[in-house]
Amino acid sequence: AKGNNLTSYELFNVEMRQTMLEVFELETSLRQALEQQQFILHYQPIVSATSLELLGFEALVRWVHPEKGLISPGKFIPLAEETGLIIPLSEWIFQEACSQMAQWCADFRMASSLKMSINIAAYHFQSPQFLEKIDQILTETQLLGKNLKLEITESLLIKNTDRFLSLVPQLQQRQIEISLDDFGTGYSSLNYLKRFPINTLKIDKSFVDGLDYQKNQADVSIIEAIIHIAQSLGMDVVAEGVETDRQRQQLQQLGCEAIQGYLMSPPLTSEKAREFINRQLSV
Ligand code: C2E
Ligand code: CA
Ligand code: CA
Ligand code: CA
Repeated sequence: AKGNNLTSYELFNVEMRQTMLEVFELETSLRQALEQQQFILHYQPIVSATSLELLGFEALVRWVHPEKGLISPGKFIPLAEETGLIIPLSEWIFQEACSQMAQWCADFRMASSLKMSINIAAYHFQSPQFLEKIDQILTETQLLGKNLKLEITESLLIKNTDRFLSLVPQLQQRQIEISLDDFGTGYSSLNYLKRFPINTLKIDKSFVDGLDYQKNQADVSIIEAIIHIAQSLGMDVVAEGVETDRQRQQLQQLGCEAIQGYLMSPPLTSEKAREFINRQLSV
């Protein structure tokens, strides 16, 4: 370069190199994180809206970075998807969540009625070994399919319709259930719902937010409509992001049977989740 005046082309190159370097570094540390087992799962309780009885947990992954501390999935899942590391990461998550659930089932008799919900990434879902790996993990951990629930998004469903329809009988055979996550935020063609044997609709937090103090009458109507649709199609409803008792009461009145959110509990470490199960037993 001539002096300090870089041409836009050179500047572009410098920036490109910087970005590529950052992505490369992150990719390298993500790869190392997998090898060095720097990931952990937290478990957020899902409870009955009326009795507050524990129904299950959603497994949520975190990266315990040696220098940066706890990194949320929103930061590294997209990168893991870009780099293909999402497959080994997802397989680890699946393995870990199933082992944990199997452990609780062995320790607490009531745990055999709980469901462990696992978020499924599109690439993982598309991988040819998806079902084979699930079977392998179920055999190894001796966990039953009925203790498992797969959380998929509308966009995964829309982009992988054929794959989904071919997998469903196999999942049903194993009594593995399916939740449609963040319902109402994606494509939400109500028409496709009736074609897919989905067990549970998860109402997105953005609608639940509007329930507070009637902030948004439209959100109330949307939730009401979602619950009606679910009921008429024989599906359950879980509302996520419930933070206030007022939201819980309204959801309960609207007929939503299950809720998840900070009001009941944030995502918990495995030890804390274990204590949560223990407290259930003593009430
Ligand atoms: P999601 O599946 O919609 O998960 C719910 C998110 O809402 C979680 O964030 C949870 O901690 C947060 N949350 C729960 N209750 C409340 C509440 O009352 N208030 C508020 N403000 N937030 C609440 P998290 O753990 O950061 O996960 C973010 C997203 O990352 C998840 O959204 C999911 O799409 C993805 N993700 C998390 N774990 C996994 C995983 O194991 N595999 C895959 N593929 N994706 C994951
Ligand atoms: Ca989820
Ligand atoms: Ca969700
Ligand atoms: Ca959400």
